Amino acid sequence: MEAVVEHPRDWGMLIGGEWVDAVAGERIDVITPIDRHQVIATVPRAREADADRAVAAAREAFPAWAQLPFTKRARALAQVADRLEEAVEELAVLTAIDTGNAIRTQARPEGTMLVESFRYFAGLAGEVKGVTLPTAPDQLQYTRRQPLGVVAAILPWNSPLMIVAFKLPALLVAGNTAVVKAAEDAPLSVLRMAEIASEVLPPGVLNVVTGYGAEIGESLVVHDDVDKVSFTGSTAVGFGVGAKAGGRLAHHSLELGGKSPCIVYPDSCTDEVVEQVLLASRFARQSQSCTTGSRLFLHEDIHDEFLEKFVARVAQLKVGDPREEDSDIGCIINAKQWERVQGYIEDGLAQEGVRVVHDGRESLTMGEPGFYHAPMVLAGVGNDWRIAREEIFGPVLSVIPWRDEDEVVRMANDTHYGLAAFVFCQDLGAALRTAHRIDSGWVQVNQGGGQVVGQSYGGMKQSGLGREFSLEGMLEGFTQIKQINVKL
Ligand code: NAD
Repeated sequence: MEAVVEHPRDWGMLIGGEWVDAVAGERIDVITPIDRHQVIATVPRAREADADRAVAAAREAFPAWAQLPFTKRARALAQVADRLEEAVEELAVLTAIDTGNAIRTQARPEGTMLVESFRYFAGLAGEVKGVTLPTAPDQLQYTRRQPLGVVAAILPWNSPLMIVAFKLPALLVAGNTAVVKAAEDAPLSVLRMAEIASEVLPPGVLNVVTGYGAEIGESLVVHDDVDKVSFTGSTAVGFGVGAKAGGRLAHHSLELGGKSPCIVYPDSCTDEVVEQVLLASRFARQSQSCTTGSRLFLHEDIHDEFLEKFVARVAQLKVGDPREEDSDIGCIINAKQWERVQGYIEDGLAQEGVRVVHDGRESLTMGEPGFYHAPMVLAGVGNDWRIAREEIFGPVLSVIPWRDEDEVVRMANDTHYGLAAFVFCQDLGAALRTAHRIDSGWVQVNQGGGQVVGQSYGGMKQSGLGREFSLEGMLEGFTQIKQINVKL
């Protein structure tokens, strides 16, 4: 196979406005999922001493950044947005080669969302404000909203630009400084984003470190001088992060995994709904999305007809090189994840009553060495099976029949997760009734992909703690209130 990258770049980490190596000088190879062996870059393997350096740089930059008039922070973020906009294509290619996300369906929209997010939060700078109480004439009682300080933002590999878009613009506009930890498998677009943003931001306001979670990630979580940990990743790791950050009473928010229900009512057996359910399945992201509608609840009356239409559409999706415009689906991130998906498939196939309605792997003739994987649709699944309870993070959809609304709501909620949900029903009364009863942080009605900048984002139950990406997420997640009472 041709070289994915002609000259692999040895990246540094951005600390205090400088590009530096890890203190210990160790490095990690970044391998592209397009080809199982090619090293496309190397990044520093940071550890505790690097956390100390990055946090110190963020701390030093904090007072001046926090004390800037809000209009200046707004202007800086808007300038970052403009520069990132010029680089969307470059960022999209980096995303395609380090995550394996297909450029048209996923990588480019991620870059665009990052730009929109910087622009949106630039516009919210003036909202970091307090209130004045209606007190006696000789009293002035008011609140000030102030930033938390140094925020460690820990990112997963599945959509690095989108997740950094959820955190970074909001925390910066509120006056905090950042140490962003890129995921070890997919650090390139985040490093390039930082390179561009650092042309505008003062040194130390944004720092980016690379390396393994158990090393630099944990060093940031337990660091005394990190005021907030904003973590996105798996629920398993999130438990430990929450316990350690909580153990030292540091602020923390957790965006974790999901096993989201996607409910189709009998009045919704249409081609349009099939398209939206396809979006909800996140097959175009190899279903490596925390908001994947991975449990498809089809009403008995339309079960077979809907599945037939749906599977016909799934069969048209093209699995291919994520850099190619005509690829709908790219590749799974790495060998470990690919094997994990196989394990779930084997487990599902071993269950009594399971029916394979689509196994795209049969027709997958890539002739390529990458971690390509076509979608798999399994029907007759029990809501209590492992494949219907655990987050697979791969393109395996469990189809479960339902008859009664109370029953489907009960099944939808019978999970320890509560991140997203989808309800398809032409009767808006019934649709909203069900939407209101589902225990998820984000419910979409009659659409599968409608994420917009500024929406509230976060999970219920073990899908997380706190909200991001929105005005309230910025205020609640990245500021604290001080009350001032004055006798005049
Ligand atoms: P992960 O939990 O393995 O890692 C996430 C990040 O945490 C990585 O940067 C990793 O290096 C770091 N990390 C690992 N161990 C750590 C530790 N002990 N201390 C501190 N940091 C540590 O998750 P992943 O495999 O990179 O991502 C996939 C998971 O992320 C899925 O479960 C998915 O649902 C979830 N996710 C959630 C959201 C959301 O918004 N809720 C969004 C995207 C992904």
